[in-house]
Amino acid sequence: MADSNSGSLMSRALRLRCPRCGVGPLFKSLLVMHTHCPHCSLKYERAPGYFLGSTYLNYGFMVITMTTAYMALHYGAKISNKALTPPLLVYCLIMPLILFRYARAWWLAADCYMDPVGFGLKPEPAPAPESREPEDR
Ligand SMILES: [Zn+2]
Repeated sequence: MADSNSGSLMSRALRLRCPRCGVGPLFKSLLVMHTHCPHCSLKYERAPGYFLGSTYLNYGFMVITMTTAYMALHYGAKISNKALTPPLLVYCLIMPLILFRYARAWWLAADCYMDPVGFGLKPEPAPAPESREPEDR
């Protein structure tokens, strides 16, 4: 049975590998994902718009790092807005592209951690015994 602990899932996400088997690559080129894992056939995009949530991870990371950098550089190091704008603009354009692949990988790994049964990492739970309605007499 494949491993579904958070450490191995994060390791697979950082290596951009399938969360179920850890072997198949997530991406076939720089920005294009495989539809299924080439090794274990796990379908990566589980529903239409599935990876929309990964954009929130990317956005959240950018908001936190940009706010921290701006506050530290402008108020801490007393660098003017005019001097800060070009490097921070370049950061805002390049960093989301770099994070794109990792945000998708982290999103898939988090979903796999939350739903190991749906990813085939744990067996389906046995169905509950049918509850019997009390008979009226
Ligand atoms: Zn796989």
